[in-house]
Amino acid sequence: MSSTRRSGPAYAYASASASAASTPEVTLTLRYTHALGVLSPYFEGLAAGRALASICTACGRTWFPPRPGCCSRAGAVQWTALTGAGRIVAGTGGGGTLPFGGGPAGEGLALIALDGADNLALGWVDGFGGEPPEGARVRLVACGRHPPHPAQAVHYVPE
Ligand SMILES: [Zn+2]
Repeated sequence: MSSTRRSGPAYAYASASASAASTPEVTLTLRYTHALGVLSPYFEGLAAGRALASICTACGRTWFPPRPGCCSRAGAVQWTALTGAGRIVAGTGGGGTLPFGGGPAGEGLALIALDGADNLALGWVDGFGGEPPEGARVRLVACGRHPPHPAQAVHYVPE
């Protein structure tokens, strides 16, 4: 047998209750690290309240969230900064949490077309008192706290 420790997800079987044999309650806690890789500039930008997109050097399409390669011709991409302003395409109200252990939830969740981007971003929206209205102008802002994952570092507010 090898005693080599492998990296990867570590988990703890935190609690298990057999209060009812047919419906045991189980709580699992996962803790692991992963590299952000080629998308590191994007996540670092989010933490600073900046919208970094990738732009294809072949077709000029701009992606936010960024793509490491363009889907149309698999062309190379470069980083470009967007203003962070955009328009709500569709929104929904209600609370909830994002994956990765909770994090900052907003008043609503919306698909947002950032100015200059060819795709849509999914993000939490605050400041409308409920469901984000379709067509409303918003801007990306940093949450100002350290979320469980850098993907949760921003939300959108009325412009
Ligand atoms: Zn392209």
